[in-house]
Amino acid sequence: MRALGFVVVVAATILGDAAVAQEIPSPEEFFGHEMGADRQLASWDQLVEYYDTLDVLSDRIVVEVVGPSTLGNPFLVIFVSSPENLVQLDEIRRRNAILQDPRGRSPADVQDAVANGRVVFVQAYGLHSTEVAGSQSAAEVMYDFATRTDAAMTEILDNTLSIIIPSLNPDGNVIVKKWYDRWVGTEYEGSGPPELYHHYIGHDNNRDAFMQNTVESRYGAQILFRDWIPQAFIDHHQMGAYTARIYLPPYAEPIRPEADPLVWREMAWYGAHMAYRMDEAELTGAIGAAIYSGWGHFGFHWITPFHNIAGMLTESASARLASPLFVHPDQLQGSRQLPEYEAQTTFPSPWPGGWWRVRDIVERQVLATFAPLEMAAKNREMVLRNAYNKALRQIERGREGEVRAYVIPAEQHDPLTMMKMVNKVLAQGITVERATFEFTHEGRVYGPGSYVVSMAQPKRGVIRWLLGRTFYPDNSYTRDRDGDPIRPYDMSTDNMAEFMGVRVDPVGSMVEADLTPVYTSVDPSGTVSRGQNGYVLDGRLNDAFLAVNRLLTAGAPLRRASRSGDGFRAGDFLVGPTVEPAVVADVVEETGVDFMPLEVDPMAASYPLTPQRIGMYQRYYGGNMDEGWTRWLLEDFAFQYTSIMDADIVAGDLNRRFDVIILPADSKQMMTGEGREDDESSAVPPDYRSGFGDAGVAALEAFVESGGTLVTFAQAGELVLDEFDVPVRNAVEGLSGDDFWAPGSTLRVRVDVSDRFAYGMPADALATFLAGGQVYETVPGARSAAVRRLVTYVDRDVLQSGWLLGEEAIANRAGVVAVGKGSGTVLMIGFRAQHRAQTHGTFKLLFNALMGGPDAPPSSAAAGGS
Ligand SMILES: [Zn+2]
Repeated sequence: MRALGFVVVVAATILGDAAVAQEIPSPEEFFGHEMGADRQLASWDQLVEYYDTLDVLSDRIVVEVVGPSTLGNPFLVIFVSSPENLVQLDEIRRRNAILQDPRGRSPADVQDAVANGRVVFVQAYGLHSTEVAGSQSAAEVMYDFATRTDAAMTEILDNTLSIIIPSLNPDGNVIVKKWYDRWVGTEYEGSGPPELYHHYIGHDNNRDAFMQNTVESRYGAQILFRDWIPQAFIDHHQMGAYTARIYLPPYAEPIRPEADPLVWREMAWYGAHMAYRMDEAELTGAIGAAIYSGWGHFGFHWITPFHNIAGMLTESASARLASPLFVHPDQLQGSRQLPEYEAQTTFPSPWPGGWWRVRDIVERQVLATFAPLEMAAKNREMVLRNAYNKALRQIERGREGEVRAYVIPAEQHDPLTMMKMVNKVLAQGITVERATFEFTHEGRVYGPGSYVVSMAQPKRGVIRWLLGRTFYPDNSYTRDRDGDPIRPYDMSTDNMAEFMGVRVDPVGSMVEADLTPVYTSVDPSGTVSRGQNGYVLDGRLNDAFLAVNRLLTAGAPLRRASRSGDGFRAGDFLVGPTVEPAVVADVVEETGVDFMPLEVDPMAASYPLTPQRIGMYQRYYGGNMDEGWTRWLLEDFAFQYTSIMDADIVAGDLNRRFDVIILPADSKQMMTGEGREDDESSAVPPDYRSGFGDAGVAALEAFVESGGTLVTFAQAGELVLDEFDVPVRNAVEGLSGDDFWAPGSTLRVRVDVSDRFAYGMPADALATFLAGGQVYETVPGARSAAVRRLVTYVDRDVLQSGWLLGEEAIANRAGVVAVGKGSGTVLMIGFRAQHRAQTHGTFKLLFNALMGGPDAPPSSAAAGGS
């Protein structure tokens, strides 16, 4: 163990064990039960203590604390290899780096790295905390690593370096264990925890590997994308209870192209051996090439193939948290590429049904951990040589491809967000270069401070999908037998540049310019220049909102421009001259936002800004990930908010407490609790059966009538459309997949930037639209004057990236409307302007609503509305 603060624990453990014997305790001896025993979960504290003990007692194991988790629990990484290998980790890493990025290396370097390197293999557990087996299996895996003396283990230790992440979400282990133990032995045993098991993002914690909003993702990315870049990575998960017993690599169709082909072959190769070992051990029900499509999301196991890492997943059937589950044979069913629950090539031993226990999962996960290591150990030189081949061939493809590089111009709508994107690209371990001087390329002029990302590098595949336009395949793999589209596993695009609203130009020839590699991160530095009337902050910058929130907290005098004036434009923030210089200096340092001089008197063209009281609706039933992400986003930009639950809403008189209330994307049924019949069958404890009912709906309507602003995201708008009397309908409600289909796509929109809810946005933007999103149409009549269209889909070629069917259902219709009601407003955002805190390009549609302001801006009223 190498971190202060845990030394005491380790010392105590040594003494305790040394007094008896130096023997390594088995999990059963240490925890008092076998891993995966019915109704027994080792806690994270106990697991950490066990790993500390192994660290001390085994010379095959080195435990490190990477840092604190979101809620302050230790996040561990464990290195496992032979004692001889562990003392030369730096050498192993040096050789590994040569193979994974051979640019500038000599043939002799490569030869040495193949001959003397070790296969680096990362495996992770416990990312999804209600999938309880993983963190338990990891303890048994570690015991086997520490104590097995057979030839296969010796070979593994000699030839491979395993990097084990025993939990990718320690906080969730704590949350789920506490909840499970509270209800075990009652009728609510096995029910899921009421809140998100990651403080902010719950199950979406494997959607964050490319944006890395959470610390856990940053730790994982540091290991996988920068420090090590292993040859293989496996993330061990659980799935539903009623199909195969364990899914093993490779993925089902379709795959996302542009990775090196060997990476897919490796997944099939490792997966075949895992499956072979399963049936050898008579652990039935293993399947490969099914269920999980190779076109997934950009969590770790789905993005790693584009890093030339065999990025894999195992998914075991779930029990009921730590309680056994009886599965009747009639309940067993097929899945993607398993059309019937019957034997097939990739599924030769269907499990017959019966009791299913966490122990069954642990046995399979332990086997799935070691089987691929056997293959890697036996074929060390081949695996290493092909690590080199994959990297080299991706470089060559990039050098010769249609797109040779992506240029990120200095000229951007929001340059600070562009720099954030550059940092996210760097966090993938991608090489980025910066132009010192202006240059011209393919007829375009790029200013100093533009960035160039060459495709002639090993991570070409990652670059392609993060920065290049993406079209989800539409073929027989993505349509069912009736021809209806099948929903992608997650998003149909993960284009970082489009999500962030950053302009990126693909270029077809190598960029000839004075370029300097950027090694660490980009840190913008703002400037300060005071004018006679104070300062102007550019309202187009997302970080201007962070700056304003800091200034509001410091009590600085603030106004917002409602129309353009001399030296500012509508939506800019105006800071009075009396603000403390020290406050300004701090804000500039933190945000990088320029404080530009304000010379003219802005009073007539602006309104005062006051801190808004924001209520953020939260519910039980496992929590709502969109709520958690939104909460994360508010904190990231320093918006003060109050989380409110059903009781707060039902209590009414909401205007006394709030100016703005946010309803994150959620069904009406989940919010109101009405018509929900699963309370009994899912055995949710009564105190956690949420829903604000009619009283809550009435309170929210009264809140708007009395001057409040209610913000709804996507399907949350259903509550307003059904229950409030508003002259708006959802134009895509009830349409079949063939009539309208946009599963996680970026769509082109026009924005009315003269409206205060859309200030600072570009007039042409991209919206991230998910299944369940809404599209708005005003119902004609006298009251339609109360509806302002803020964002409208373009009239043709709506799709930027992803998948869109039935364009005519959405073309020219509204994506966002502000609906006046009484003296308040409902802001209905039909897409996901803050999706997973990834869509920086549309954050301002939320932020503006949280800034307050007069209801109809003068410019819009003068133009007769829109
Ligand atoms: Zn999972």
